[in-house]
Amino acid sequence: MGTQTETLEWRVKIPEKKIEGKAWLNLKKRVIDTGLCTHCSACALVCPVGGIISSPNQEIDFPEWEENCIDCGACIRACHRWEYTPLYDLGDYIDLTAGKSKRFKGQDGAMVTEFMASALEMGLIDRALFVGRDDEWRPVIYHIRSVDQLKNTRVTGTKYSYASVLPELKKAVEVTKKGVGVIGTPCIVTGVRKLQSEFKVFRDKINLVVGLFCMENFYYYQLRAYLEQKGVDLKKLVKMDITKGKFIATMTDSKVSFPVKEMDEIVPHGCESCTDFANVLADVSVGSVGSKAGYSTVVVRAEVGKKVLDYIKDKGYADFSKVNPEIIEKLTKLKKKRIKNIPEEYLSVAFKEDRKKNRENKENKENKENKENTE
Ligand SMILES: Cc1cc2nc3c(=O)[nH]c(=O)nc-3n(C[C@H](O)[C@H](O)[C@H](O)COP(=O)(O)OP(=O)(O)OC[C@H]3O[C@@H](n4cnc5c(N)ncnc54)[C@H](O)[C@@H]3O)c2cc1C
Ligand code: SF4
Ligand code: SF4
Ligand code: SF4
Repeated sequence: MGTQTETLEWRVKIPEKKIEGKAWLNLKKRVIDTGLCTHCSACALVCPVGGIISSPNQEIDFPEWEENCIDCGACIRACHRWEYTPLYDLGDYIDLTAGKSKRFKGQDGAMVTEFMASALEMGLIDRALFVGRDDEWRPVIYHIRSVDQLKNTRVTGTKYSYASVLPELKKAVEVTKKGVGVIGTPCIVTGVRKLQSEFKVFRDKINLVVGLFCMENFYYYQLRAYLEQKGVDLKKLVKMDITKGKFIATMTDSKVSFPVKEMDEIVPHGCESCTDFANVLADVSVGSVGSKAGYSTVVVRAEVGKKVLDYIKDKGYADFSKVNPEIIEKLTKLKKKRIKNIPEEYLSVAFKEDRKKNRENKENKENKENKENTE
């Protein structure tokens, strides 16, 4: 494994755009200090000197950068918020369905688990990264190698805390033979796609990306303090859910519920400037809105996702039902509004050009219509 790591090329050129001072300092000023950072840790995993860390309060930092940073620029290359291209809307898809796994228990219909279990059975991947938890709901990354491991209910289900998926993904791509499956919120998936665009090993070794819908997330320690103050005993907690505007904590002997709006004060800055609800870059996106209770909404975007869905259907592993896309679209529109929280100077050039072109097209269309109406 050591030799394999050494052959991976983490040292890359600094982006064309002229930057003054060390690359790390630029990343810190532009992304971390401005609150755009999503704590994906892509910068930390590519840093060849291993100096970037995620501190206990989950700040991304490089405490000894002055002595140790070699100014290679890899951290900037890996950061999906350096040149921020906001994503939004429902995105392209080839199938939209609601599903409920007959084999697993999950947050909703356990379709995320079913997709990964089926991909393992098909031999498409030989490991899948899951965000599980310890007995106090700290997120823990599991490398799942067999379908039986997925009967563990700590592995499935939603944890409303940032999870360090990408550093584990680096370990997974180094050891996999058949390929890796990865699950994540839109910021994790965007981080995966950025790594794939910059580093061949991620392009070659990641075979399935299952994305979750996402409106917000929290830092573990802040969430924990918040829930404890609301009377939640994390050792007794069996499920956390955000549904119909309420945060619901279900414990073994009681339930605590309150409006999720009350938690606005602990929503991290990175989420406030995030516009992607439906996880538009995933191969398959899964969420709870849009389906009846106990089912997951499944948005199949890529052929690989369709292949796995067909396998699930052939094997009779899940029940299926209809989706109501309007409610998903309503939430995508709501999240798109956060674009106003991104300062203009941080938007990518590509995004600004696209936006300009769209505006011009719209104006041309309106002018043409006005002209036709007056003739
Ligand atoms: C932070 C967060 C916010 C969400 N917000 C919404 C929302 O607003 N609306 C909506 O419809 N759906 C939302 N979801 C998705 C929803 O909660 C379910 O995950 C989804 O419906 C899939 O259910 P399932 O039963 O198919 O998944 P399961 O089969 O239970 O599998 C879920 C898998 O998700 C992964 N996971 C859990 N927590 C995290 C995490 N913190 N980071 C990365 N991966 C994780 C784990 O690998 C887990 O096994 C959110 C999910 C997360 C993690
Ligand atoms: S060594 Fe390279 S990757 Fe690490 S902080 Fe410095 S510029 Fe970034
Ligand atoms: S968004 Fe990710 S890659 Fe960019 S600075 Fe934050 S943790 Fe690093
Ligand atoms: S709201 Fe955006 S930044 Fe926050 S966890 Fe969800 S996908 Fe990531």
